[in-house]
Amino acid sequence: MSFNKKTIRDINLKGKRVLLRADYNVPVKDGKITDDYRIKQSLPTVQYLLDHGAAVIICSHLGRPDGKPDPQASLKPVSARLQKLLGHGVRFADDCIGPATEAEAKTLKPGDILLLENLRFHAEEEADDANFAKKLASLADVFVQDGFGVVHRAHASTDAVTKYLPSVSGLLLEKEVNTITNVMESPKRPLMAVIGGAKISDKIEILKRFIDIADFVAIGGAMANTFLLAKGLKTGKSLVDKDDIPLAKDIMQLAEAKAKKQQFIFYLPQDGVVASSIDKTAQTRIVDWSAHVIAEVENYPKTPPPKSAIVGNGELILDIGPFSAAFIAGGMQLANTVVWNGTMGVTETPSLRGPVGPYAHGTEQIVEAMLGQFGHRPFTVVGGGDTVGYVESQGEVGLFDHVSTGGGASLELMSGKKLPGVEALQDK
Ligand code: ADP
Ligand code: MG
Repeated sequence: MSFNKKTIRDINLKGKRVLLRADYNVPVKDGKITDDYRIKQSLPTVQYLLDHGAAVIICSHLGRPDGKPDPQASLKPVSARLQKLLGHGVRFADDCIGPATEAEAKTLKPGDILLLENLRFHAEEEADDANFAKKLASLADVFVQDGFGVVHRAHASTDAVTKYLPSVSGLLLEKEVNTITNVMESPKRPLMAVIGGAKISDKIEILKRFIDIADFVAIGGAMANTFLLAKGLKTGKSLVDKDDIPLAKDIMQLAEAKAKKQQFIFYLPQDGVVASSIDKTAQTRIVDWSAHVIAEVENYPKTPPPKSAIVGNGELILDIGPFSAAFIAGGMQLANTVVWNGTMGVTETPSLRGPVGPYAHGTEQIVEAMLGQFGHRPFTVVGGGDTVGYVESQGEVGLFDHVSTGGGASLELMSGKKLPGVEALQDK
């Protein structure tokens, strides 16, 4: 299925004032942008609008200012970065609505850019408020949605505003929806999904969908712990969700049922990196519980499993182990498409020695395999807020075929859900 919404290519932009919803929710530390991937990804749309004779009024949110002005969440640093990246002047309005901004918008000529201050300085934005949307709409002649990261929410700048202006898609939104929809609906097979991260309940829809459509589903991260617990293995102090054990059992049942009918692998880690704390100085060891699983399966109780096969009561599983990482990386040598969401371990813990943290080795090995380091290079799609954040922090963002700018939105789209901010746009 291809994208069935009108885009900026389908309308006349000459002499028009365009209200562009971008997703400039970038990480900012001490007033400095630490990663500008989202800004860079929006440039083709901004440039297209300028080249076709429009004046561009850009709106976005940043952070969680909770409906009131907060200097920490100002878009001012974005204005400077945008100006630098475009090599083009960018004016800034201190409020996204109000008389001063309306007056400023009226002075815009084709080729001018005005960036509006954070939409979420007004509680009406997240409330999908009609009056607020009307005021935003009054600034322009056309609305362009390009903020993929927010289209899974019905907010004033994704939903209500489209009732007051002709509304079409930008180039980034079109690319995100097309790329993700294509890998879900007509991937080059074999299709492999690597799903990690924190909670099963957050990923239940996407897990079910991948069990349905993928040829190989590999699980990692804290989510794997709950599956292991559901299988009766010891997980010590690891992050688990006891409430999700029934969900884990359901998922495993779905996977087993599929594997009976066709070639399909559902892989849970067979070993892990464990430590007694998350700290970077903690002593780690590798626990290979596959022997324990085999002992259980073969009803082999005479010799208890060795300590090396059991996670201790005081230990946490913080990363997948080297066998698991190798197995998943090996699977990738057969896959032609890999979709990855969720880190394999606690990638945030910094290293004492080098660029890769003590619990990031599993994730790194998988990244290497995705990028063709072991010979074969599949088509690679990365989604999820923390996963993309990690890839950004490693400077790897440009190396994959598609790194989604949308966290929650990419997961909802992969799950097969409709996105309100896309639905609201004009059909082709
Ligand atoms: P995304 O936002 O990309 O969907 P998640 O939020 O689901 O990803 O998962 C990322 C988080 O999972 C990271 O903060 C990471 O620390 C955590 N995580 C991964 N593995 C483990 C683990 N073994 N124990 C605790 N936390 C983990
Ligand atoms: Mg997350």
